[in-house]
Amino acid sequence: MSDNRLTKAIFMYDYKMAATRRYSNWSSHIKMIMDKYYPNGNKFQNMEKIELDSLRELQASQFSEIWKQNAQNKPKLRIYNTFKTEFHTEHYININLDRSERSLMAQLRTGILPLQVEIGRYKSSDGNKINLKDRVCKLCKSDSVEDEEHFIFCCTAYNDVRNNFLKSIKMKYTDFFTFSIEDKWDILFNKQTRSFAKYIKEIFLLRKDKLYVKN
Ligand SMILES: [Zn+2]
Repeated sequence: MSDNRLTKAIFMYDYKMAATRRYSNWSSHIKMIMDKYYPNGNKFQNMEKIELDSLRELQASQFSEIWKQNAQNKPKLRIYNTFKTEFHTEHYININLDRSERSLMAQLRTGILPLQVEIGRYKSSDGNKINLKDRVCKLCKSDSVEDEEHFIFCCTAYNDVRNNFLKSIKMKYTDFFTFSIEDKWDILFNKQTRSFAKYIKEIFLLRKDKLYVKN
C-alpha cells in the first residue's frame, strides 16, 4: 500500500506512537500480544506478518496449560481432576438436557453441589468450617462423608433408584463394578450423559425430600 494512502498514514502514526512511548492504542495492544506469544522475536519491531491461525493455536495451548495448573490446585475439583485433563467443551454442554439436569451435572462435576462435603465448608454452629471428616451423610447410617462418590455410588438412601440406573449401565458395561472410580466417572459423565443426568436429578430431589420435607 502506498505511504500516501490515508489508512497507511494513520497506521504508521499509530505504530510509531506505540513503538516510541507508553501509549494505549491499537498498535500497543498488538505489540503486547506479539511480545507475549513470540517473546524471542522482534516481530512487532520488524513488522513481521503473523499467521492468525498459528497465533490462535498458540493462545489456545497456553490457555489450556494455565487452565490445567489452576484446576490441579483446587481441592473442590476432586472429581474433575480425576479425568478431565484437557480443556475442551464438555459433552453435557452439547447434548439436549433440561436446565436443571445441566445445572446439577455442572455442580456435581465442579464440586459445588450442596452435599455435606460442600455445605460444611461454610456452615457450622460456631461459625467455623466443619472438619472434612465430620461432614457426614445425614441420610444413612454409614458415618461416611457425604461427598460426590458417596452420593452417587454408595448412599443406601437411594438404593432403589440406583439399582435401576446401574442395571441400565451394566447392560452396556458388563464389568462396570470392577472399573476404577476414574473410569466410572468418565463413563457416566461422558458416555452415559443423558441417563446419568436424569439419575442425578432423581436422587437429588429424593435427598431434598428426605432431608427437608416434614412428614
Ligand atoms: Zn448416605
